[in-house]
Amino acid sequence: MDANKYDVIIIGGGVMGCATAYYLLRFDANLKIAIIEKDPSYEFASTPLSDGNTRVQFNIKENIQMSQFGLQVLSNFADEFETNDVKPDVAFRSQGNLFVLDDNSKDEAFEGYQLQQSLGCDVQWLTPQDVQIYYPLYNLKDCVAGTYGAKDGTMSPMGVLNGYKNKVVQLGAKYLHAEVQRVLTEKKQVVGVQLMTGDILHSKLILNAAGAWAKSVAEGAGIQLPVEPTKRQVTIIETNIKLEKNLPALFFPSGLYLIHEGAGLFMVGKSFADDYVGTDDFVWHKEVFEEKIWHELVEFIPEFDRLKILRGWAGLYEVNTFDGNALLGEWRELGGFYLANGFSGHGFQQCHAVGRYTAELMLGKNASVRFIYFFC
Ligand SMILES: Cc1cc2nc3c(=O)[nH]c(=O)nc-3n(C[C@H](O)[C@H](O)[C@H](O)COP(=O)(O)OP(=O)(O)OC[C@H]3O[C@@H](n4cnc5c(N)ncnc54)[C@H](O)[C@@H]3O)c2cc1C
Repeated sequence: MDANKYDVIIIGGGVMGCATAYYLLRFDANLKIAIIEKDPSYEFASTPLSDGNTRVQFNIKENIQMSQFGLQVLSNFADEFETNDVKPDVAFRSQGNLFVLDDNSKDEAFEGYQLQQSLGCDVQWLTPQDVQIYYPLYNLKDCVAGTYGAKDGTMSPMGVLNGYKNKVVQLGAKYLHAEVQRVLTEKKQVVGVQLMTGDILHSKLILNAAGAWAKSVAEGAGIQLPVEPTKRQVTIIETNIKLEKNLPALFFPSGLYLIHEGAGLFMVGKSFADDYVGTDDFVWHKEVFEEKIWHELVEFIPEFDRLKILRGWAGLYEVNTFDGNALLGEWRELGGFYLANGFSGHGFQQCHAVGRYTAELMLGKNASVRFIYFFC
């Protein structure tokens, strides 16, 4: 048998690639799978640079259901992903997510809330007074209502990635340290990949799980994806605020968010329209927090006028410029070429559902949930 021939080749060993490999092997333990990862340290991969937050508070049914499935998987993650007597610890903090609503965002949020209710989510509609009970530090500026998801929370993205990765390696997937140079095709069908070394691996099923690099991987197969690698910054701040228990993660209508990390520590971020697009800048700039975020934070939480900027990092969102949601499934004009791309900043929480659904599609099974957008 040809050692370079695989049933499935997965380009990218981040959380999407590893989760898909896991479900493929759960459906068929005999599959020969290659996960090709150009940087096993994951220095620039989005997964470890993520905030690790999960929520059911979306306005689209498919996104809500993906998070619901994710929470189900996480509830048994340590047992399901135990390898060599080690149970992975994803350090889940079920602190809840609190969305502040103003006049402009209230109506759309109410529609989302009704949808979440109809799908059985544990989400409450809050008056400003309720918001203050959940978040006493917030002065209620601009607040006309709020929503609170009690089961939403934050965890270690690397804990989840390692859980999937270690398990698939144990189950027999081949994890290769190599970079895919291009996807090889013949008569509108994928036939393999060529590595930077010149080596060729063969397969008629290939998954593009290259995260922020998905567009360039697809371009190599003659496909234009509307996915742009977009730089986002996160800053960790320390305050003297004494709190007895973790506050919920707090999200403002402007996109500003604040995740309480315990004691006086908070993680803060916000996306800006002029955030850099490209894969060559991972430098975190303290000035972005000082000049573009801090003053807004103090408007809402006056106690934040004194704080220490501890550290920060920059990572890439894989922004789907078409509609800001996942692109999943087989590219219709290229047989065997599957996408799990364009998650636009909320992919980490969707890895479980995406992994399962993509595996089902690739194996021609009836998908368990119909939550997919076919862009192509
Ligand atoms: C600052 C920040 C905060 C975020 N916060 C959240 C959050 O709170 N909740 C949430 O759900 N999501 C969040 N996200 C989004 C989330 O991180 C991503 O959607 C998710 O991790 C994408 O996983 P992935 O496996 O597709 O990509 P990645 O983790 O980037 O993995 C892709 C892998 O492909 C490899 N690769 C690329 N090209 C090639 C090639 N040619 N050959 C071989 N290997 C290749 C890369 O090295 C990389 O390891 C955040 C992202 C950022 C940047």
